[in-house]
Amino acid sequence: MSTPALSPHNEFNVYESAEARFEAASKKLGLEEGMYRYLRYPNKEITVYIPVTLDSGHLEVFIGYRVHHSLVRGPCKGGVRFAPDVTLDEVRALASWMTWKCAVVNIPFGGAKGGVICDPGKLSKGELERITRRYTAELSEWFGPERDVPAPDLGTNEQTMAWIMDTYSMHVRTTTTSVVTGKPVEMGGSQGRRAATGRGIMIVCDKALARFGLKREDTNVVVQGFGNVGATAASLLHQAGYKIVGVADVQGGLYNESGFDVLKLYDWVYHQHKPLPDFPGGGARMAAQEVLFQPCDILVPAAIENQITSENAHRVQARILCEGANGPTTAMADEALDRKGMFVIPDVLANAGGVTVSYFEWVQDRQGLFWRESEVNERLKDVMEHSFDEVVRYSETHDVSNRIAAYMLAIDRVAFVLKLRGIYA
Ligand code: NAD
Repeated sequence: MSTPALSPHNEFNVYESAEARFEAASKKLGLEEGMYRYLRYPNKEITVYIPVTLDSGHLEVFIGYRVHHSLVRGPCKGGVRFAPDVTLDEVRALASWMTWKCAVVNIPFGGAKGGVICDPGKLSKGELERITRRYTAELSEWFGPERDVPAPDLGTNEQTMAWIMDTYSMHVRTTTTSVVTGKPVEMGGSQGRRAATGRGIMIVCDKALARFGLKREDTNVVVQGFGNVGATAASLLHQAGYKIVGVADVQGGLYNESGFDVLKLYDWVYHQHKPLPDFPGGGARMAAQEVLFQPCDILVPAAIENQITSENAHRVQARILCEGANGPTTAMADEALDRKGMFVIPDVLANAGGVTVSYFEWVQDRQGLFWRESEVNERLKDVMEHSFDEVVRYSETHDVSNRIAAYMLAIDRVAFVLKLRGIYA
């Protein structure tokens, strides 16, 4: 298998990582120069300044972004992230990943992403609501079910989506549930959306096991990140019979080769509100990043970017890397992982369960007819399994890594539609 050398200038700039992979896949695909330029750059980038009166009476101005990477295959789709270290480059990278992700699972959306530089842990509910509403008001002409459909990401949740939906609806004077996804079920959210990304991870892990002839009960898994994606993936994998031997969140990690009772751990963290590393279920305590290098069959990084790097990739012991987070592996680490013969299920495939059920949510809102959870899960399984098979087949046919195969497949799909639509000038 040939791995193109990926050498971004700054290994930890996720936009450069995204660009390096896009460039490698475009070259391998023989993408013509004009198409390359078109698909490389975002459609538009919007910066908004968000004045908010804090509970103290102090007036603060927050900075927010929304990047539309592509509208070629449909309205653009992507989460909104609230975090103190959000940068425009990060939002750009995440927006382009959304384009490729939607194309990998073949749903009719382009890619977008948003972010607000703020620390949700230090803001009251009222302050978060005011930030969200003003951010939405500033972007109200760009949002819309046929334009741009936000969803939750780091630091945002169902409540944030409810506020965006309400603010947008007030502006257009029509209740428009399909303007966001990942909202509460009671107001047009989809059954199964909350667990969809974690469920998608379990589905592709099952597919990988089948390739390796492994059984769930003989498979040890380490999951880094115990939030929406990590905790759901760990719980579903545990319930399905996998052994979860390592877990971590921002406070630290735990490793226990006998396996954790993940449902008890979930209760400890989410119902008892206790620190994950203090879980009394046994296990050695370690730094959050150290769990990545513990013995296991499957490693699921499901926290943040840039965890597996050119410096530490050689320490990863897993046979299968299933990327729950967006961009957990730097582009410069790809070559080292390929050299080790790691079977990588890249982020644009592995965590696409969330956007797939977001698409189902958008469809249900627009038709005003809602599906049972079993139906949502069945459709999700179908999409994830089919997409996994397509990426792996593409990788074998073109003799490239799964990651480059996923990018090639996605770029090819977007470029094909772009050619059909033509360039409006
Ligand atoms: P979240 O905020 O619910 O959870 C993040 C988890 O990561 C928390 O447990 C946090 O403690 C942990 N964490 C943060 N920094 C860490 C560190 N340095 N080391 C170890 N753990 C750390 O977020 P989420 O929704 O679970 O998203 C996680 C990742 O998955 C992000 O990259 C996100 O973009 C991606 N993603 C999320 C979805 C979704 O549906 N939520 C879909 C696709 C991709």
